[in-house]
Amino acid sequence: MMSKNKTSVSRRGFLRNAVKGSAAAAAAACTTVVAAPPEANALVRPPKPLPPDAVGLLYDSTLCIGCKACVTACKEVNHMPPDVGPAQQGWNAGGGDKPIYDSPVELSAKTLNVIKAYSHGTGATKDSAENGFAFIKRQCLHCADPSCVSVCPVSAMTKDAKTGIVNHDPSACIGCRYCVLSCPFGVPKYDYNDAFGEIKKCQLCKQQLAKNELPGCADVCPTGATLFGRTEDLKAEARRRTALKVGEYAHFPRGDIAGKVGGPRSGHEKLVEAAYQTHIYGEKELGGTQCLAVSAVPFDKLNLPTNVPENGYPTLSEGIQHTLYAGMIAPATVFAGLAYLAHRNTKNHTDE
Ligand code: SF4
Ligand code: SF4
Ligand code: SF4
Repeated sequence: MMSKNKTSVSRRGFLRNAVKGSAAAAAAACTTVVAAPPEANALVRPPKPLPPDAVGLLYDSTLCIGCKACVTACKEVNHMPPDVGPAQQGWNAGGGDKPIYDSPVELSAKTLNVIKAYSHGTGATKDSAENGFAFIKRQCLHCADPSCVSVCPVSAMTKDAKTGIVNHDPSACIGCRYCVLSCPFGVPKYDYNDAFGEIKKCQLCKQQLAKNELPGCADVCPTGATLFGRTEDLKAEARRRTALKVGEYAHFPRGDIAGKVGGPRSGHEKLVEAAYQTHIYGEKELGGTQCLAVSAVPFDKLNLPTNVPENGYPTLSEGIQHTLYAGMIAPATVFAGLAYLAHRNTKNHTDE
């Protein structure tokens, strides 16, 4: 009898080959279209705007102290299992079936949110690219024009018309993993060791929001490094922060920037010790994202993809699809080709 592991590996191999095979058929056509100048490109559809009441998170790397309370809270409110890597096995000696130490370092089918660290040289100075270190939070960014929604053949990935939250419905999912391949940020994960595994990603704690409670990560963050709110309000806050000067004192709110979800809570005054980058991550990348980030260290050093277009990939893939439909080329082939190209072009940033 075939082992469970072998079953999942052969299923993965089958899907990978199927996607690569169909991708090859579409890749040449897609590459040609990508190279065409935008004004001459009749295959591009207009980008989708953010809903006015879209909500998200603002992560401020300069405020983050790397405590990982957000990682733990994310697990608790989403009932995610421990994610114990080989490096942590020693910590769990004597823990039996119940690990006593769980500190995931990557997004996975068991982990929707991680804090990662950048380090350079002596690593002595916080928020310095030279001889310093910095933190970055990784989770679904809830794109304005999400690739994962565009490529999903059965609409298991959807974008809420009011909040803009990108949801995954496991009951509709057929496990094709196009969303995994298509996401430019490497977010949706599938457990390849589980033959009946599901796609997992952050859904902005919609179950908490439905109770007027904060997403777990924003709820527990002691410094306000993770802040919840309307994306437009968070963008304004990000602009305020990136205009701050070193040596200024500034107020930093916690919880919900509007003080409504989860109740009001006090923020804090803090000296600005490192110069912010003017770049607000997510303001423009791939059509914009509802979760944004500011930092003193450039985002490419924090391993976020920066060399990406200002419009989301679906503006191109859906334009091609609708045009090729007339030529009777299967949409799945086009999706697979673009998804493969998008993944190939960004995999250096997302193979984590
Ligand atoms: S809880 Fe806040 S300060 Fe702690 S690691 Fe998460 S984002 Fe950083
Ligand atoms: S970050 Fe990836 S998974 Fe999240 S909405 Fe964007 S494309 Fe989808
Ligand atoms: S919003 Fe919820 S699911 Fe998403 S990273 Fe924060 S705690 Fe995790």
